[in-house]
Amino acid sequence: MSSHQLPQRVRHALRFRQLQVESKIRVADSFWRIVFTSDGLQGFQSAGFDDHIKLFFPPTAGGAPALPTVGDDGIHWPDGVQPASRDYTPLAFDGERRLTLDFYIHQDGLASDWATQARPGDTLIAGGPRGSLVIPEDYAFQLYVCDESGLPALRRRLATQRAQQVHLYAFVDADVGESYLPATAGLTVHWLGHDAQQPGKVDRLLDALAALPLPEDNYYIWLTGEGGVVKRLSDHFLQQRQCDPRVVRAVAYWHQK
Ligand SMILES: Cc1cc2nc3c(=O)[nH]c(=O)nc-3n(C[C@H](O)[C@H](O)[C@H](O)COP(=O)(O)OP(=O)(O)OC[C@H]3O[C@@H](n4cnc5c(N)ncnc54)[C@H](O)[C@@H]3O)c2cc1C
Repeated sequence: MSSHQLPQRVRHALRFRQLQVESKIRVADSFWRIVFTSDGLQGFQSAGFDDHIKLFFPPTAGGAPALPTVGDDGIHWPDGVQPASRDYTPLAFDGERRLTLDFYIHQDGLASDWATQARPGDTLIAGGPRGSLVIPEDYAFQLYVCDESGLPALRRRLATQRAQQVHLYAFVDADVGESYLPATAGLTVHWLGHDAQQPGKVDRLLDALAALPLPEDNYYIWLTGEGGVVKRLSDHFLQQRQCDPRVVRAVAYWHQK
C-alpha cells in the first residue's frame, strides 16, 4: 500500500473546556443527543471521524466541576482530585460554540446516567481531542464493525467516505441502527442485533468475515466495540489474514464488567 494512502496522525494542544447543556433529545430510542455550548469551544478541532474527547463528570448531580490547569509538569486538578471521566466522540461542531455528543443509554453507567438526568444549564468538563487520526476517505474497500458505542463515529464517517464498497457489521438492533444512521448509498449493512456477548454471536460474525473476500490493497478496516470482541476481530484480521496493521484500526470502546 503506498504511503500517501496511510492514515495520518495530527496532534492538538491539550485544552480543557467547561461545557453547558443547551438542549437534549432522544435519538433512535437508544441515545441522548446533547448539544453543549461554550465560548471556550473557539478553536475546537476534530479532524478524525473517530476522535474522542474525555468528559469529566461532577461528583454530584447538577454540580459544576472546576477546570484544571495545564502546565509543563502536567495537569493539575483543583484539590488534586481528578473527576471520573469517560470517552465520547465529537459528533458535530458548528465551528463556533456548539458541540453535539450522542450518549448510548445503558444500565448503571456514570456517563449514561448523567446524560439521562442532564438538564439545560448543567455543566461538565471536556478535555481534548489531544489528537486525530485522519483516515483517507477514498479507500476502495472499507469495512466497519461496531456496536452502539461506535455509531456516532460511524455516522460521521458515512457522511464523508468515498469508497467503492462499504460493509458494516453492527451489534445493533436493526430498528435502532436504521433510525440512527442516515440511508447511505452503496452501504452493505448487516445488523447483528444488540449484545455481542450472546453465545455464538461473535463466532458467527467471524465465520461471515472469513467468507468475505478482501482486496490485496486499498482497503481500510475499523473494529470497535466491547474489548474482548474487538480483540477477537483484530486477531482475525491481523494474525489469521495477515492484513496490514497500518490500515486496520482496532479500539476497545468499553469493557464488559
Ligand atoms: C474513542 C471512544 C469513543 C467513544 N464514543 C462514544 C460515543 O460517542 N457515544 C457513546 O455512547 N459511547 C462512546 N464510547 C463508549 C463509552 O466511552 C463507554 O461505553 C463508557 O464506558 C460509557 O461510560 P458509562 O459511565 O456510561 O458506563 P461505565 O461506568 O463505564 O460502565 C458501567 C457498566 O456498563 C457497561 N457498559 C459500558 N459501556 C457500555 C456500552 N456501550 N454498552 C453496553 N454496556 C456498557 C460496563 O461494562 C459496566 O458494566 C466511546 C469510547 C471510546 C474509547
